[in-house]
Parts: sequence; structure tokens; C-alpha cells
Amino acid sequence: MAAPFRSYADRTVTEVLTELTDDAELRAVLSGHYGDYSLAPGRASFGMHAMLIRHYINGANFPVGGSARLAETATDVITGAGGSVLISAEVERVVLDDKGAACGVLMADGKSFRAPLVISDAGALNTLTRLVPDPASEAARLVQSLRTVGPSQTYVMLNIGIRASGDRLDLDPANIWAHAGPDIDGDIAAFEADPEHRTMPTYFITFPSVKDPSWESRYPGRTTIDIAGLTTWSLFEPYAGSAWMRRGADYERLKDRLTEELLGQVFRFCPQLEGRIDHTELATPLSFNHFLGREKGDFMSLAHTPQRFALRDLGAHTHVPGLLLTGQDVASAGVSGAIMGGVVAASAALERDALEDLAAG
Ligand SMILES: Cc1cc2nc3c(=O)[nH]c(=O)nc-3n(C[C@H](O)[C@H](O)[C@H](O)COP(=O)(O)OP(=O)(O)OC[C@H]3O[C@@H](n4cnc5c(N)ncnc54)[C@H](O)[C@@H]3O)c2cc1C
Repeated sequence: MAAPFRSYADRTVTEVLTELTDDAELRAVLSGHYGDYSLAPGRASFGMHAMLIRHYINGANFPVGGSARLAETATDVITGAGGSVLISAEVERVVLDDKGAACGVLMADGKSFRAPLVISDAGALNTLTRLVPDPASEAARLVQSLRTVGPSQTYVMLNIGIRASGDRLDLDPANIWAHAGPDIDGDIAAFEADPEHRTMPTYFITFPSVKDPSWESRYPGRTTIDIAGLTTWSLFEPYAGSAWMRRGADYERLKDRLTEELLGQVFRFCPQLEGRIDHTELATPLSFNHFLGREKGDFMSLAHTPQRFALRDLGAHTHVPGLLLTGQDVASAGVSGAIMGGVVAASAALERDALEDLAAG
């Protein structure tokens, strides 16, 4: 990776900002977006932070039609090229030929597919530890490095539904980041030391339906709001062995407590919503494990630490010939990072720089 990038990527956000200013409040404002890469500024690489701020410098984008349009658009491209898209289709493992090269996948329902190349978006750790049989010692080294890097931080996310249009509710489309105080690292550490009794250190409130110009025609008189609260895996670990939707009364009580806390924050910023909420549903780190194949609710998969950006063997190529990795783990966090991961994987598959193809249109 280019030396100028590494000179910043090798340091944490807090280290770089402390060099720039001794004003703690200014540092908190400058790092207030840390939740977008799900890692405390004291642990996150300044390289990740700089990419995020550059990404937002001229404002943000929201897909017209909501995030589902991303999948639908990609599906159109795949089916248009003669491919197929399967949903709710779990891969049990990558199948290897007698020379040890990937030649297809075996699905959890017993079906199998053959392919000259297998490209996995299921996450580097997930792919290398669960989907490849008998990881070779080469992979074991990378797996060990990925475990040392560790997971990104995790959230609880309350999905809220209201039977009224956003216009009537006087909602602004801008996102809200709310922190406990200017000592972001200190507040996260204090929370992690006692998550049972402390309130969450950071909240993020977003208004998807208000941002989407196509929403009102698709769902007239309806509004959605999401609020995320930074939490910690230790709070949910006791329930890790339980089954989805059957996690027991203690877990439901924990969810109720966190739902109340998050609703309190919604009313703090939008008092006009008191008494207007019609539906809530809380996603927890266990939801991300269940649906995304994560281990500790890792919201953005790997932690974007300086060590993660220093890993030389984390890229599209794996120790298994014919098996490539794609998505955020081979580039960086977020939708844009995952798209760049796709470009990296496409370059590896095509054996040429796919960015040049894109630039050429
Ligand atoms: C609730 C939430 C909200 C977010 N909001 C934003 C946002 O507003 N903006 C933003 O930029 N980023 C956001 N992110 C982050 C963003 O979604 C991720 O960075 C991005 O989706 C990563 O893309 P990916 O393709 O690498 O991995 P993922 O999107 O995590 O996709 C991995 C896929 O692999 C599948 N999988 C895993 N194991 C298997 C298996 N064995 N067989 C088959 N499939 C498998 C998973 O089900 C999953 O669908 C959000 C993340 C979450 C969890």
C-alpha cells in the first residue's frame, strides 16, 4: 500500500488528532463519525477515518428505492449476463478438486454447484474457518492474524415504524450522532466495563423513509426510523448458544430494556414522536451473527485497526487456487468499501485492473 497512506494508516485516529489539536471537544467532533466504521477512535486506523471523511466531504448518498435497490441492481446485471441469484441459500462448504483447487460449492440443502472460480463474499474469517475444509497451514497463519485483529464493535439497532408520513411528523432527513461526552474513548471503555448498568456511549439515528424520494408513492402515510446504540458483545455472549427467536425470557427482558433506552433517545431528539410509535423491532449482535455469519456481532466484520491495514496476505487471493475473497474484508468498511472489494476481486478474477475498465466505461 502506498507509503503516504501507510504513514497515517499505521496510527490510530486518536493519535493523529491529538497531534493536530489539544482541544478535546474538537477531537470529539472530528471523530464523531467513528461509528461508521464501528471502532473506537483510540483503536481505529486513521487511514479508515480519512477515507470515511473524504467519502462524506461533499455530502452523502441514499439509494432511491432504499438499500434493496443495491441488490436488485446487481441482480439485474448478473441475470442479464446469464447468471442466477439464489436467496436464503446457505453454502455449507467450498468443494475442492483432487488437486486442491476450488471447483464449486456444496449447499446446506445438499445441492451442489460446479464453477471454474469461487468468489466468497461471506467474510474472510467465515470463509477460511467455516467454508474451506481443512485449512492449510498457510491459511492458519492468516486466520491467526485475523483473530488478532479482532472484530469491529457491535450495535443494537431498533427498527421503528410509524403510521404517518414523514412530512406530517416534521422530520429532518439528516442523520444524528449522539455521544455521551467529549471523551469518546473513555466513555466507551467505561460502558464496556459495566454494560449491564450503564447507558450506551453512542447513538445513531437515521430516517430512511424521509430520505427516499420514492417512499411516499410506495408506502403512503408510513415512516421508518432506525436508531443504533453502540453495545458490547459481552452483554450478549450468555445467549450465544440459543436459537433465533427462542432465546428465552432473560434475553427478551434485555431487549425490552435496550428498546426503552433507544426510544428515549429518539424522543430526546424528536419529542414530537412521543405517543406516535406503532412498531419496534430490535436487532442485536446475535442477529448479525445469525444473518451475516459473524462471531461477535461484528458490525463491519474485521476491526479497522492499524494492524488490519498492515496485513500483507489479506486480499482477494486465498491459499486455495480458484477461491477468491471479495467484499469489505478485502477493501474497507461500508457499502462503498464492499463495492471496492468487488473491484479488487474482479481484478483478481480477470487478471487485469478492473478499475481501468470502469474508468473506460
Ligand atoms: C444494520 C446495518 C446497517 C448498516 N448501514 C450502513 C450504511 O448505512 N452505510 C454503509 O455504507 N454501510 C452500512 N453498513 C455496513 C455495510 O452493510 C457493510 O459494510 C457491507 O454490507 C459489507 O458488504 P459485504 O458484501 O462485504 O458483506 P455483507 O453485506 O455482510 O454480506 C455478506 C453476506 O454473506 C452471507 N453469508 C455468510 N455466510 C454465508 C454462507 N455460509 N452461505 C451463504 N451466504 C453466506 C451473509 O448472509 C451476507 O448476506 C451497515 C451494516 C449493518 C449490519
